[in-house]
Amino acid sequence: MATPPGIIELGSDNRLIVPDHVTIPFIEGDGVGPDIWMASAKVFDAAVKKAYGGKRVVHWVELLAGKKGHAKTGQWLPEETLQGFKKYRVGIKGPLETPVGGGIRSLNVTIRQKLDLYACIRPVKYIPGVPSPLRQPEKVNMIVFRENMEDLYAGIEWPAGTPEAARLVEFLRKEMDQEVRTDSAIGIKPMSPFNSKRLIRMAIRWAIDHRHPSVTLVHKGNILKFTEGAFRDWGYELAREEFSRQTIRESELPPDGNAGGKVIIKDRITDAMFQQILLRPDEYSVLAMPNLNGDYMSDALAAEIGGLGMAPGANIGDGIAVFEATHGTAPKYAGRDMINPGSVILSGVLMFDYLGWKEASEFIQRGLQRTIRAKIVTYDLARQLQGATQVKCSEFGRAIIENMISGGAHE
Ligand code: NAP
Repeated sequence: MATPPGIIELGSDNRLIVPDHVTIPFIEGDGVGPDIWMASAKVFDAAVKKAYGGKRVVHWVELLAGKKGHAKTGQWLPEETLQGFKKYRVGIKGPLETPVGGGIRSLNVTIRQKLDLYACIRPVKYIPGVPSPLRQPEKVNMIVFRENMEDLYAGIEWPAGTPEAARLVEFLRKEMDQEVRTDSAIGIKPMSPFNSKRLIRMAIRWAIDHRHPSVTLVHKGNILKFTEGAFRDWGYELAREEFSRQTIRESELPPDGNAGGKVIIKDRITDAMFQQILLRPDEYSVLAMPNLNGDYMSDALAAEIGGLGMAPGANIGDGIAVFEATHGTAPKYAGRDMINPGSVILSGVLMFDYLGWKEASEFIQRGLQRTIRAKIVTYDLARQLQGATQVKCSEFGRAIIENMISGGAHE
């Protein structure tokens, strides 16, 4: 008799308890979403089958959102979809188009906020053979932890010329003695110790658990002293109070730089950090940063490892995670079976690692690495790679499956 699909539970130590036949919800996504999802789901199923021979199985359940959600339910983001992610705890999604008008700023931001997915995680690791603008891309192996809940992304802003903006301007001029032009638009940048610290806590724990050498707090605190500067200070404070045995501050390292197996906590100013990730990427490992810095830096880092089509991501809260493509719906490629599904496929790698299904994630990585080494790639990589064989989105997925040859999961 077939094993009925189970649901992920949370153990007493807050670790996930994952049944062998697990139900995982997905949102197909808008634009290129259906093409990408079809290719990716086949890769995931093949990897799980190869790794576990039927002992472990993923039962996919579709959740609606975006255009498909609107067409079927009249809502861009139905409540059942949010409830579905809560119930199943771990899910995966394609890109969603931001509806124009209708009072929704971004479906992605709304999902993150409503589910309290306070950390956006983006691993940036070079895969040999992928075209990169760097001379030594193999030095790139970082993971971004971006605060997801506040900063300018909180969306507290008013257009110039509105009564709300005028009221705030008047308050700032009269009550706070600030020089602000009366015709200004106003945006607010809230940053709290609560949200900053839980993000940095997750980054430090990740570094300890995965044996990464350092956590860098990336901030613009030289100018924005009480928001981004505080992010840096809260980070050091947290490391001292909660991880004093496992971490050491860069400024306290002995002259030989030996951290004695501890995770080094350091900080860098954001603009300087953009230079560092180009010139000395191997000096950085886990990066923790406020929301807007994280947005900019993740895409710049993605460019170093093959672009948006190769950049995975996850939004993670306490006991809940949604893995996702970091790119958008790329509307001009919608329905053309052309786009690179790598971002969702690598998000799947991250998801299987998160579930503890490492063998499945290793099969996917191996299939992907071999396919790229054979220069079988989608258009985005083909245009940067001499002698490449350009394939469709679906063909790329099939090639990955073919390259997960039988045998052990390790190369
Ligand atoms: P985009 O969809 O990310 O596409 C911009 C460009 O990036 C594409 O034209 C393509 O460049 C490249 N690209 C994106 N995905 C790729 C992939 N899988 N493989 C290869 N190349 C890829 O950004 P956008 O056009 O600014 O946004 C379109 C819509 O997506 C908007 O409604 C936006 O709000 C939404 N969006 C959603 C998310 C999300 O769901 N997380 C994130 C960002 C944006 P080339 O044309 O040069 O090949």
